[in-house]
Amino acid sequence: MEVRELSAKELTTIGIGSSYPVYFPENLEELKSLLRNEDIFIIGGGSNTVLSEKLNRKFVSLRKFRNILLEEDRITVGAGVKLSELLALQIQKKFSLFEFLAGIPKATVGGLVAQNAGAFGHEIKDRLVEVKFLSRETLEVEVLRDFSEFGYRKSPFPELGAVVEATFKIFHSQKVKEEMKKFVSLRLEKQPPFYLRTAGSTFKNPPGDSAGRLLDLAGLKGFSVGGVKFSEFHANFIVNEGGSFSEFLELVEMGRKKVKEKFGVDLELEVRVIT
Ligand SMILES: Cc1cc2nc3c(=O)[nH]c(=O)nc-3n(C[C@H](O)[C@H](O)[C@H](O)COP(=O)(O)OP(=O)(O)OC[C@H]3O[C@@H](n4cnc5c(N)ncnc54)[C@H](O)[C@@H]3O)c2cc1C
Repeated sequence: MEVRELSAKELTTIGIGSSYPVYFPENLEELKSLLRNEDIFIIGGGSNTVLSEKLNRKFVSLRKFRNILLEEDRITVGAGVKLSELLALQIQKKFSLFEFLAGIPKATVGGLVAQNAGAFGHEIKDRLVEVKFLSRETLEVEVLRDFSEFGYRKSPFPELGAVVEATFKIFHSQKVKEEMKKFVSLRLEKQPPFYLRTAGSTFKNPPGDSAGRLLDLAGLKGFSVGGVKFSEFHANFIVNEGGSFSEFLELVEMGRKKVKEKFGVDLELEVRVIT
C-alpha cells in the first residue's frame, strides 16, 4: 500500500500543522486492515480540518476510491472523487447535483457526506440515496439509507466508519453551468477569496443567527493572534498567514469568549479540530 509523508499544507486547505504519514488504500481489504487501528484519522480534501503539529495518528486517504457510475436518475461515486470533478461532469452531462457547493476548494465525496455539507438552503443529505461504508464496529461493508441522524453540518461519519461510496439523486438541467456561476458569485460577495488559506466556516451558525455577524459585532473582524486572523471579508473564516495550531486555538477561544460575553451565545465549532 502506498504511504507518503505529507505536509499540512498538502493535506489541508488552511495548512496549519506539521507533516504526517498518510496511507492510501487501494481496495476494501487494505482499508479494513487500517480501520482495525483505533487511532486512524480519515482525511478527505482537508477543507474543513485543522491539525495539531503534535499529532501521533495515522492518516488514511480514500483518494484511490474513484469509481463513478452515471445512470438515468442517479450517480454513484467513490469517496475519493473530488467535488470539482463532479461539477465538471455535471456541466458535461448536464445534470443538477452540487451546483450550490461550486467554488469550495478540494472537498471530496467522503468529506461532503461526513460533514453533510450545505449552502444557500441546500444540503448533501437531500440528494442522498444511499451511503456505502466500512463499519468501524463490524469491519464489514454496510449500507445506510436512513439519514435521520444527519443534521446541520453533522452526520454519523467518520465515527460510524469510512464512507466508501455514495449514491445521489440527479436531475436533468440545461442551465447547470449558469447556476454554478450564480452560486460562485454569491459566495465571492461575502467570503474571502478562494486563494487564501482557510478551512471554511469556523463555527456553526447558532439558531436564527450568523456566527460571522456575531463575531463581527464583537469586534473581531480582522483581529489576529500571531499568524492567524478572523478574515476582514467574513469574520467566521479564519485565515492562516503562517500561524501555528496554538495560535489558531487561542483565536477560536477568543471568538467564543467575546461572543458569549456580548450575546450570551455559545458558539460550536464547525471545523474538525484534530488533536
Ligand atoms: C473556502 C471554503 C468554503 C467552504 N464553504 C462551505 C460551504 O459553503 N458549506 C459547507 O458545508 N462547507 C464548506 N466548506 C467546508 C468543507 O469544504 C466541507 O465541510 C467539505 O464537506 C469537507 O470535505 P473534505 O473532503 O475536504 O473533508 P475533510 O476536511 O478532509 O474532512 C472533514 C470530515 O470528514 C471526515 N471524512 C472525510 N472523508 C471521509 C470518509 N471517506 N469517510 C468518513 N469520514 C470522512 C473527516 O474525518 C473529517 O471529520 C468550505 C471550505 C472552504 C475551504
